Amino acid sequence: MLSPYTFIIETGYKLLAGISPCNAWSHFQELQANQWLSYEQLCGIRWNRLKKLLHFSYENIPFYCNLWKAHGVDPRKFTAEKDMVNLPVVSKRELAEAQKNDEFLLSKRGRYEMTHTSGTTGERFQVPFTFAGFQKKYANHLRQVYASGWRLGMKSATLHYSGHPQFKGKYSGRPEDREPFLTLRETALSCAHRRLVLTPYYETALGNEAFPEEWYRQLKRYSPYLFETMDFNLPLLREYMERKGLPRLSIPKTYVLGTYSSSLRKSLEDFFNTEIFDRYSPHEIEGVAFACHVHKGMHMAIDSYHTEFLDQHNRPVSQEETGFIVVTDLDNDLMPLIRYKVGDVGHYYAERCTCGRGFPLMGEIDGRVRDLFTLKNDKIVAPAKIAAVLQDETAVSLFQVIQNLDNDINVTIVPNKNLYSTRVEERIQHRLTEILGNDGRILIATAPAEHIDLETNGKCCFVKREKPETYH
Ligand SMILES: [Zn+2]
Repeated sequence: MLSPYTFIIETGYKLLAGISPCNAWSHFQELQANQWLSYEQLCGIRWNRLKKLLHFSYENIPFYCNLWKAHGVDPRKFTAEKDMVNLPVVSKRELAEAQKNDEFLLSKRGRYEMTHTSGTTGERFQVPFTFAGFQKKYANHLRQVYASGWRLGMKSATLHYSGHPQFKGKYSGRPEDREPFLTLRETALSCAHRRLVLTPYYETALGNEAFPEEWYRQLKRYSPYLFETMDFNLPLLREYMERKGLPRLSIPKTYVLGTYSSSLRKSLEDFFNTEIFDRYSPHEIEGVAFACHVHKGMHMAIDSYHTEFLDQHNRPVSQEETGFIVVTDLDNDLMPLIRYKVGDVGHYYAERCTCGRGFPLMGEIDGRVRDLFTLKNDKIVAPAKIAAVLQDETAVSLFQVIQNLDNDINVTIVPNKNLYSTRVEERIQHRLTEILGNDGRILIATAPAEHIDLETNGKCCFVKREKPETYH
């Protein structure tokens, strides 16, 4: 049943869209309708939008014009979407460099504000948005969360990482990290999303239980319908609650930013009495893909983004094979992102979802490019595959797997003491060897949570490579 609060907020958004530049609601209505179109109709929309973007960028954006000419490609001659493979893939570094040299001609454009990527790698990457463009991104955000059953006016809670621009550098010491159109955004989040913001873990290592204690207290009191959190927070909170024997929480819907194995997901869903949803929504390209109630991966929003999965030589990979995620944003003409290598790896499915949406499916994210394990035979192994081995073990509360530069694998396990035994360790050793071969030693050690380090932006990487020397 529709709550009066939801009715009021949705009506307010509709009115605003009619009389002001805050027109996210109009875009949202269009996006909501689009998702139920047939796959063929959606491909038609995508191709029309791609053509426009490529023409525009070739004629107006020196960065792309020069780049494509240097590669001998004129995208105005493309006759089908498959021709996109002829365009070079661009990295964050190239885009940032071009921005610095004003190759997007931002100095000549009207008012815009920057959105920042999270900067796990330490590299700064900012993408500008006009207010109109920002409204479109917001509409994409709304569509992905509405897929869970949440609506405006329903209570939500968020537990970000400490470097999230939401905190304006409070924990990261970088006050330039802030969201674009901040005042409006904060008003919408507090009034319309009724968002409670929990204090993120901002210390350099896990272990301080004052954090989960406070999360628990606030979630219990506020009782949100929707909870958005980082992957490491939920196991941490569960471990704390189990140890203290606290009464369970009941949170209808949870968005987790990160990938769980199916067994860990199921056990967390049971424990928190929740339905866990995935979405793929990097800061600069909001709403690339989102889960529906069927939970067979995520629907790729092909009316707003063109998403590809490529191998190391930028050739398309086959279905279900892990590839580098490359996205073209069909909305942003201020700083177009065309065949932009996001820095994550993932895979797609050929089969369609049974929910009726026309959007094709991709799987959950397989990890970050910089954390891919490389074997001596040049084979790469996705972080999520390694994480799943540890996540499948109920005797493991938390863990971190690090591939050293000499290819040794250090596995740190925070054990669930009641269940942990040498047999668990043998099983982990065996499964990891199956995946990674005998390139390096696999060294497993148990340790308290304090031994698990966080990244400088406050994220916890379950699986990572030690000081990867190159960025992709
Ligand atoms: Zn579906």
